[in-house]
Amino acid sequence: MATESEGSIERIAGEIVICIKCRLSQTRKHAVPGEGSVSSKVMFVGEGPGEQEDAQGRPFVGAAGKLLTQLLQSINLRRQDVYITNVVKCRPPNNRPPRKDEAAACRPYLERQIAVIDPKVICPMGNSAIRAFMDSDKSVTELHGIPFEVESVTYFPMYHPAAALYTFSLRRVMEEDFRKLRALLDSMVS
Ligand code: URA
Ligand code: SF4
Repeated sequence: MATESEGSIERIAGEIVICIKCRLSQTRKHAVPGEGSVSSKVMFVGEGPGEQEDAQGRPFVGAAGKLLTQLLQSINLRRQDVYITNVVKCRPPNNRPPRKDEAAACRPYLERQIAVIDPKVICPMGNSAIRAFMDSDKSVTELHGIPFEVESVTYFPMYHPAAALYTFSLRRVMEEDFRKLRALLDSMVS
């Protein structure tokens, strides 16, 4: 039987797939609500769907997603055991960064997903996602791998996996950050 949380997450997803609250609804093929375990201790938040995600309606299923899946596996997490979503649920044209008004329009969905999942750790990946949670001009270069806590949620900023596809040396940095995330999760009493 579906749990109450699964029902709530499905309800939010149902609203997202028909949402027309911002201009991204005009160019998307499929909105991408997010997927994974509603009882996960950790949530990963990307910037917005890319071409593959828009085509399939699922988050992180392209090249960056493949790397994310590998990084998760490297710390013994399976994709289906964590929750994965994005700051905006519809693809920005040509993968441009989401605009402020688009992120603001989409924000209530992200907040409701967080409220249902109630994660101990939120990992914003890349500058757009970090900006969504942190009022700072600092970039991911300075912030990655260093946890900070706001209202009993720990945030753990990371590079966006797409960055490691462009800059190969970042892959080692990301692997190290995932090991730190493993240690952080293990240090928390469940
Ligand atoms: N990049 C993102 O930020 N999100 C996805 O879902 C895929 C690629
Ligand atoms: Fe709605 Fe968010 Fe899609 Fe904009 S990006 S149309 S707010 S679901």
